[in-house]
Amino acid sequence: MSDLYANCCVDITLEELDRPFQYRIPDELRDKVKVGVMVKAPFGRGNRTISAYVMEISDKPSIDKSRIKDLSEVVENRLHTVSDMIELAAWIRHSYGGTMIQALKTVLPVKQKVEVKSIKYATLAVSREEALTYAGEFEKRKTQLLMANILRYMAENSQGSEDKSFECKKLIELSSSSASSLASLNRRGLIDIREERVFRSPILDEIKSRGQEESKVCLEANAEQEEIISKVKADFENKTPKTYLIHGVTGSGKTLTYIEIIDYYVKAGKQVIMLIPEIALTMQTLTRFYARFGERVSIINSKMSAGERYDQFIRAMRGEIDIMIGPRSALFTPFTHLGLIVVDEEHETSYKSGQVPCYNAVETAVHMGKLYGLSVILGSATPSIESYYKAMSGEYQLFSLDKRASGQALPKVYVADMRAELKEGNRTIFSRKLKELMDDRLAKGEQIMLFLNKRGYAGFISCRECGQVIKCPHCDISLTLHRNGKMICHYCGHEQDAYRICPKCGSKYITGIKAGTQKIEEALHTLYPKARILRMDKDTTKDKHGHERILSAFAKHEADILIGTQMIVKGHDFPLVTLVGALMADMSLYTSTYQASERTFQLLVQAAGRAGRDSKPGDVVIQTYSPDNYSIVASQRQDYKAFYDEEISFRSLMKYPPVEHMLTVHISSKSVEKLERACDDLKVDKDLRTSFEDLEIMGPVKQNAYKLDDEYYQTMYIKAVDRERLSDFKDALDLYGAEKGLLSYIYLTYEFD
Ligand code: ADP
Ligand code: ZN
Ligand code: ZN
Repeated sequence: MSDLYANCCVDITLEELDRPFQYRIPDELRDKVKVGVMVKAPFGRGNRTISAYVMEISDKPSIDKSRIKDLSEVVENRLHTVSDMIELAAWIRHSYGGTMIQALKTVLPVKQKVEVKSIKYATLAVSREEALTYAGEFEKRKTQLLMANILRYMAENSQGSEDKSFECKKLIELSSSSASSLASLNRRGLIDIREERVFRSPILDEIKSRGQEESKVCLEANAEQEEIISKVKADFENKTPKTYLIHGVTGSGKTLTYIEIIDYYVKAGKQVIMLIPEIALTMQTLTRFYARFGERVSIINSKMSAGERYDQFIRAMRGEIDIMIGPRSALFTPFTHLGLIVVDEEHETSYKSGQVPCYNAVETAVHMGKLYGLSVILGSATPSIESYYKAMSGEYQLFSLDKRASGQALPKVYVADMRAELKEGNRTIFSRKLKELMDDRLAKGEQIMLFLNKRGYAGFISCRECGQVIKCPHCDISLTLHRNGKMICHYCGHEQDAYRICPKCGSKYITGIKAGTQKIEEALHTLYPKARILRMDKDTTKDKHGHERILSAFAKHEADILIGTQMIVKGHDFPLVTLVGALMADMSLYTSTYQASERTFQLLVQAAGRAGRDSKPGDVVIQTYSPDNYSIVASQRQDYKAFYDEEISFRSLMKYPPVEHMLTVHISSKSVEKLERACDDLKVDKDLRTSFEDLEIMGPVKQNAYKLDDEYYQTMYIKAVDRERLSDFKDALDLYGAEKGLLSYIYLTYEFD
């Protein structure tokens, strides 16, 4: 029997993570040592042993065999959370690629130095009268004038309460003084300065006070909501946790449903993770949770520093909180009594990580449910095709909320055919229908949202007169225009010369479409000089509270019109909005991915869902060059099921996910020659092709943005019925790269769908 070795990560203060330690597995422990178990191992001099976690088992010693020590023992009652997370990391690595270290760093809270924040306060150390006397003295000398300012300000502003404290920073500002004068007063014993440590509570004070107000208003679940709540409760009581998909139309009260279920779990002593897309992590959502759960709820988000996030994970580990709300990384909150994971807006693409390992948080949550026996609730008004497919196949239990909780009907949706507008001489950005409704709303003092669909805009070519879009004859997705004047298919590499006139109608108006939020703002200003307009896009939301500032200004009716990209369509609840315009609805329809129609439908339905949520009914105008496309037609009717049926038959026909699985391999290098040589070799490698004859392998193909951040990219797509075969292919490709010595200058990253 040859020796086996365990690569361990020692203790869990994670600085050591980059340096796994190897131990030999003694024969008598072979059965017990598995990835994820906790072990005791000798460490350093003498008889000292430490705890470690097994990350990997291998038959290859990493150093001279004689220098490798034996593991001492397996710890059976290991710390629950951490070892579970190592098991999870192992799964993530297997399912999404990357190294074990990368996977561990994804799931384990990485210790970070937390910068201690404190605030300094000053109080008068003498009476007010004395302070004023001193001030008078100081004023006689120019060099001491600033000290006088401070004393005078403090004395004048502490009438009635002599020991009043002033925050130093503000004090200096308000008394037009300086930090050195303040220090000088302190040295003279005329003032006292004390420092207070500020504890990080990620929930802003404003939310806290709003939360307390709202907690007075108590909503009762309606019959539809109650049915879901009681079924989930019953499954919990019967110890049969499941994965549920709640398909609830916009405004149907999904949030209240989650809150009731979460409340139940928390009362049963369980902890809950609630994922929501970063962009929807707004004051509005938080307020509702804070109102119900107070200090027992915490959040993390990407604008927090690593230290701030680590703080929240520690609070969770200690049991100081019951509920963690956050974007995808909140999934790895180290709760010890986790019972439920909720994923709101589960269709959002932001649940897929863009960094290695490119894990899918929805899929991972569902896997965690199976691994740890948790319930998982996925919710959306527009479920991903994949989740709905699984609900149809019985893998998830499907619930529907078909009506708006407010009793208000879904908005009325108009489709404006922009080809007809052009024909009839309207060359502006706004269709006549949208213009007419905007006039009406502005006159009535109601609010308007204009949504510019820019998602995934990638140089597709269409005819402005007939709406024709040029697609790949093999893959049925849009061709993209490259700088060299060729139109290329991302998936199979099909290439042809760009058309100068439309192949369908002969028009010469065949171009890519360009427009930005700023252009729309300008056009609106010209059209409605008196209207108050807010714009929300990447440029206007750069600072930490940028989103919040714009959204709350709009909520307070400080503007009539809000223009924005997809950021504005997520989950917001503005009662005064009664008109939503979706400009260039087609943009996402022709991006070069098989999910283009799905994204379009989701965006349009979500955007439409912002209109008429309160007592006044809403209207929506979708402006498009392809009014007959099924995703436009279905979003006009807000008919998810009709869309799903069309889409799933397209996916079946083309063998796209979720009917089959697809692996995307990004191959990149700093050297264009080496990349091209490697890809050319890869294209014709016999071994790779013959061992994977059952798979459909496409590419490598050059990317539209061939060069990005000084790296060149090519992409391969592989389709398979069996997901495991894609993992096999990934392993084979990694091996191929290693054997050919490519990995020192070629990077391979994997995305699974
Ligand atoms: P969704 O998340 O499904 O889009 P929300 O949870 O935001 O919907 O609810 C939409 C609106 O309906 C909110 O203003 C909410 O306060 C209200 N609402 C939800 N449930 C009820 C209920 N049971 N009774 C009355 N109003 C409700
Ligand atoms: Zn045409
Ligand atoms: Zn193609």
